[in-house]
Amino acid sequence: MAQENVVLAVYGELPDELRVALERHLTGCDECRLEWTAMQALEAQLALNPVLEPSPNLLAQSRMRLDEALDQIPPHGFLTRLRSNFSSWMHHVQGAPALTTLLLGVGFLAGNFTYRYQVAHQPRQDAGVIVMTNPTTGAVANVTGIVQTPDPEVVQVNYNRVVPETMQGSLDNKEIRELLLKGMAQGANTEVHERSVNLLSNECKVGHACTAETDGKGIRSALLVSLRYDKDAGVRLKALEGLQPYVGQDQHVRDAILEAVSSDKNAGVRKTAISLLTPVQSDSSVRQVLRTVSTQDENPYIRTASFQALQGSAEIQ
Ligand SMILES: [Zn+2]
Repeated sequence: MAQENVVLAVYGELPDELRVALERHLTGCDECRLEWTAMQALEAQLALNPVLEPSPNLLAQSRMRLDEALDQIPPHGFLTRLRSNFSSWMHHVQGAPALTTLLLGVGFLAGNFTYRYQVAHQPRQDAGVIVMTNPTTGAVANVTGIVQTPDPEVVQVNYNRVVPETMQGSLDNKEIRELLLKGMAQGANTEVHERSVNLLSNECKVGHACTAETDGKGIRSALLVSLRYDKDAGVRLKALEGLQPYVGQDQHVRDAILEAVSSDKNAGVRKTAISLLTPVQSDSSVRQVLRTVSTQDENPYIRTASFQALQGSAEIQ
């Protein structure tokens, strides 16, 4: 009982009549006097740390660390008695904010010392995550904040997870299309990328709302990007197919196809691009490109195809 009174006395929560008795006891009892000195040292150390409003996380964490620490302390120690008397103390805690702070502090300090001991004496390993709010499956998307706790060894990390979702709908559905455009821009996942290009290209080919958006975010713009920059010749071919219906009406499409005719690395892509120019082959800029390609392309088959396209346009005129 005297030790409990020591705690209360240090925090000024001990009634006066008990305090006098305690002081008398301390003069004659070495063990309790040591306790008294230790408590005051602890209190002094706690006073050095800024008093924070404890978050629920912090409290839960503190309590767990206190438990862990107590488990490692031999029986008969002060902290063991602290725990065994814990429930009978609860009514004191209600009216003793200083005592609450103490318990929190003991939890942290004891936990901290235990942790440091373990770090020093065991092979390094990942410190377990102690508190987790909102646990879900799914990959960690990004870390949004890092908060230092009073314990220098403990940090609170806030992050978002990617929650997997599925959407099923018509290819003409706006949200489905936006997802496919995202898939198209996703170069790292080849399968998703190719399927997105295929599906959107087919939509364009059959004339399902393949408008040229002025912000450069429409399907047609995406196909133009694919035609110009995709590393996969099959994907560039697919983009060409989707752009075909617009070669006569859209200058950007025509320019991109001419670019493919004169400089795509793949002969199959160049040949297909030439064949798509039929509706505009009498156009002077188109004739100029075809003339150059018919004399300079490294592939004889392409040179012939360009020449024939020029002849065709000559016949039209
Ligand atoms: Zn004593």
